[in-house]
Amino acid sequence: MTQLELARKGTISPQMTAVAQSEGLEVEFIRRGLADGTIVIPANTRHLNLTPRGIGQGLSTKVNANIGTSSDFASIGTELEKLKAAIDAGADAVMDLSTGGDIPAVRRAVMAACPLPVGTVPIYQAGIKALEKYETMVKMTVDELFNAIEDHAQDGVDFVTVHCGVTRSAIDRLKQQGRVADVVSRGGAFLIGWMLYNERENPLYEQYDRLLEMAREYDMTLSLGDGMRPGSISDATDRAQIEELLVIGELVERAREAGVQVMVEGPGHVPLNQIETNVQLEKSICKGAPFYVLGPLVTDIAAGYDHITGAIGGALAASFGTDFLCYVTPAEHLSLPDADDVRQGVIASRIAAHAGDIVKGVKGAREWDYKMSVARKQLNWEEQAKLSLDPERSRRVHGQHTAAGSACSMCGEFCAMKLVEDYLGVTTARC
Ligand code: SF4
Repeated sequence: MTQLELARKGTISPQMTAVAQSEGLEVEFIRRGLADGTIVIPANTRHLNLTPRGIGQGLSTKVNANIGTSSDFASIGTELEKLKAAIDAGADAVMDLSTGGDIPAVRRAVMAACPLPVGTVPIYQAGIKALEKYETMVKMTVDELFNAIEDHAQDGVDFVTVHCGVTRSAIDRLKQQGRVADVVSRGGAFLIGWMLYNERENPLYEQYDRLLEMAREYDMTLSLGDGMRPGSISDATDRAQIEELLVIGELVERAREAGVQVMVEGPGHVPLNQIETNVQLEKSICKGAPFYVLGPLVTDIAAGYDHITGAIGGALAASFGTDFLCYVTPAEHLSLPDADDVRQGVIASRIAAHAGDIVKGVKGAREWDYKMSVARKQLNWEEQAKLSLDPERSRRVHGQHTAAGSACSMCGEFCAMKLVEDYLGVTTARC
C-alpha cells in the first residue's frame, strides 16, 4: 500500500513517524495531511537507504538540488561529488536529470549513495535511447516511454516528473497566443515534438491510468511537470501555462482516487507581482496538492547570479504557501553546474525556504532567528557559526581579519553591540 492508502486507512507508517519527528509535529497531523493529499512522503518501497522527508502544508519548506550528466559532461564521479555537495549543504531532495553517458548507471550510483528522496525525469532516458535507436526522439514508442518510467520505479526513484498536462489543447493555446521563449522545459519539448510529429495526444495523458498503476505499485510519487512553464517573465501566467494547470488539477484528483501520491510543479520565470497569484491558482485548482516551483526567477537579466534571482522568488513563493523549492545555481542558463555551484544553489534556496517558513509560522523557524540575534548581541562568534546555514563559511569569513577585543573587524572599537553594553549599561539578552 502507498503512504496515501495507509493514511486513509488510519495506519501510521514508520515513514510518517520519521517525518513527524523531524518536523517536531504530531504524527496524526502528518497522517491527516497525507490522507487528504496536502502532504506527500516520496518514499519508493525499493529505496532502502532513504531517510523520508515530508513535503506539504504545515511542514517546513523543502529544497531540491538538481544534479545529472549532460551529453558534454558525463562522469559518474562528478555527479557523486555534486550529490555530496548537495547533501552537505542541507538539501532535502535531489533530482538526477542525467542526459549523457550511461544514464541508468548514474541513477543507480546516485540512488545507492543518497539517503534523501531522489527524483528523475524518465522521458530524458526514453528520448535519448530513441535518438540512439532511430536517430530521432520523435520515433520513440509509447511502450519505450512507459518502460523507462518502470525502470526508474524499479531502481527505487521516489518521485518522477511526468509532463501529463501537455495536451494538444495546451499546444494549440501556445501556438495561437505566441510566446517570447516558447517552451523551455526539456521534457515538455520532447513531448511536444513527439505529439506534433506523430499527430497524437500525449501518451502520459492518454494512458494516465497505466502510469498510476505503475506509480502505485512502487509508491512512487508523481510530480506533475509544467511543460508549459514560462522561460521568460514576458510569458508568465499566460494561457498555455494555465491551460496545462487546469488539466493537471484534474489529474491530481485521479491520482488521489487511485491511491497515488502527487505533487504539482510550477514556474519558472515569474515577476514578483505574479508569484502570489501563481501559488493561489495552483492551491485552488489542484485542491491543495503540494506545490514544487523552479525558482521562481523574478528577472531574466541576472545570468551568473540566478541562485539569487531564484532565492528572491523562492522566498516569496514559500511565504505564500509553496511547499518545495527547486534550487537554481549560479550556472543556470550558462553551463552544467559543478559541485561549488550546487553548494551555492542549495544555500541560496535554503535561505529562501527559511524566510518563507518564518512567515508561514513553521515550528522552530522564528526561534532559530531569535537565538542568532541573541548570539550576535553577546558577540558569541562560535554560537553564531553553529546557528548559521553555512557554519564553515561563517567561521572563515569572521576569521579573515583579526580584530582587537571581542567585536569583529567591521566596526572594531566602534562596535555598536559593545558600546551599548559598555557605556549605556544595557545588559546582553540571554537565551
Ligand atoms: S563590530 Fe560592527 S558588525 Fe561586528 S559585531 Fe560589532 S556592531 Fe556588529
